[in-house]
Amino acid sequence: MDHATFAGLCEAMERRWRTTRAKDPVAAAIAAGRAYFKKLGRPCAPVGNGDAKTASAGTYGPIGLTCPPACPYMDNGCYAQQGNCALHEARANALAEARINAAGVAMVAGALELKRARLHVTGDGALPDGRPDIAYWDGLARVARWVRVRYGGGGAWTYTHIDRALFAPLHGWLDEAGVFVRFSDSWEWGGAIALPFEMFRDFKRETGTRAAKCPAQLRDTNCAECKLCWERPDLVIVFDPHGPQARLITDASPAVRWLRQRGSPHDRNLRDVATAHARWLRLRRVQWRSLLGDADR
Ligand code: SF4
Ligand code: SF4
Repeated sequence: MDHATFAGLCEAMERRWRTTRAKDPVAAAIAAGRAYFKKLGRPCAPVGNGDAKTASAGTYGPIGLTCPPACPYMDNGCYAQQGNCALHEARANALAEARINAAGVAMVAGALELKRARLHVTGDGALPDGRPDIAYWDGLARVARWVRVRYGGGGAWTYTHIDRALFAPLHGWLDEAGVFVRFSDSWEWGGAIALPFEMFRDFKRETGTRAAKCPAQLRDTNCAECKLCWERPDLVIVFDPHGPQARLITDASPAVRWLRQRGSPHDRNLRDVATAHARWLRLRRVQWRSLLGDADR
């Protein structure tokens, strides 16, 4: 997207947003943005108006083609492969241009309400070999900068399963442009993990991590109000696996596997009790044998 196209997109969306009588002016603005690209003959990936949790516009990319092959949830519980997400994902275009155009629509829609957009609700920003798709991230950064200049706010946030070491050189540059990216399944700075909330305390104790449970899973709030994901990179965000795929997600989660392998303090206590009990039984057996032996003699 060049700057003239971006300016045309903003005008089309702002006009619809100001003049529409629809109940949801942001949805109307998104429709105008998508129609704008259609009129230009340019591709645009699906853009949604958010759900109760995000309450922000979001984009959808194809799963598999844009996901790092090492993602442990692919075909193994990934939420993006279920329900409404899967319906949007099925229409998603793998072209970087289509996903950047969609991000432009989502970021402008977000900025109209001074919100951040949620990028790739489905999919990621990787090449088939797992490296970051530089053309895609570069396009996002460019659009995010234009959005910030025009509206004085907005931007976007998202998560990635791309290897942290490979993504690190892009991270600060994207953040500075207005796109905050969390590292999925990482419990270092700027990370996010899937972990049943009942393991939260053990996990914090074992890792010494500063972490927060996603507030939207605890009370009636949403990302637009909460903002933890992009304002508090010092906190690792913990998501409680839920829904029909909860068991698969829990078993595939690297944080859960790490904790299970290491053994939580609770498990270790149980193991200690079991070991002490077995030792006591052995001792009793020896005592009984020696007593019976004594009686036989
Ligand atoms: S990278 Fe994200 S969208 Fe892709 S399979 Fe993994 S969890 Fe699903
Ligand atoms: S921690 Fe806050 S911003 Fe992040 S997903 Fe949960 S509600 Fe949204």
